Amino acid sequence: MSPEGNNPFRKNPLETHEEDRERMQLAISLSSSSPEQKTYKVGCVITDKNGKVLMSGFTGEMEGFHAEEIVIKKLKLAGLEEVARGGSIYSTIEPCHPRRSGKTSCTDHILSLGVSRVIYVLDEPKKIFKIAGPGEKFIDCQGAKTLRERGLEVVHMSELEEEVREINQHILKSKG
Ligand SMILES: [Zn+2]
Repeated sequence: MSPEGNNPFRKNPLETHEEDRERMQLAISLSSSSPEQKTYKVGCVITDKNGKVLMSGFTGEMEGFHAEEIVIKKLKLAGLEEVARGGSIYSTIEPCHPRRSGKTSCTDHILSLGVSRVIYVLDEPKKIFKIAGPGEKFIDCQGAKTLRERGLEVVHMSELEEEVREINQHILKSKG
């Protein structure tokens, strides 16, 4: 496959950001259509290295799977796995790692997929938020950190946080 050096996405950082925003807005609007009430409503979009949207999805589309997993599954089913190499994944919430249930984390799924960039909005909430439901515990999410350590470009698009919080009001409860 071609080297990452010629990625047109990288030529103009400002333009890159605009395109990232556009795709993240798509992920956010998808997350708002999630039927989930017990977990985060997450939207996810995968693009090829030129920014073309290959697949998208949201929590609740397939029961028991995280949004990133769902979109990666759909991508594989569509035979687009190879095209996604060197591309980007957009998720409205930081990819999990480790995962509370002990299953393979979305961070590990993303690493196996071979995309070069990960863009997310909301840090997986930690100590200041309560997760609804009995027996749930906080996990110090190492998703973004792990992806960076493995050499991926990770963009924290924090300016869209309010929108993502709004959609996840059912689960984000301030302790105060
Ligand atoms: Zn996950």
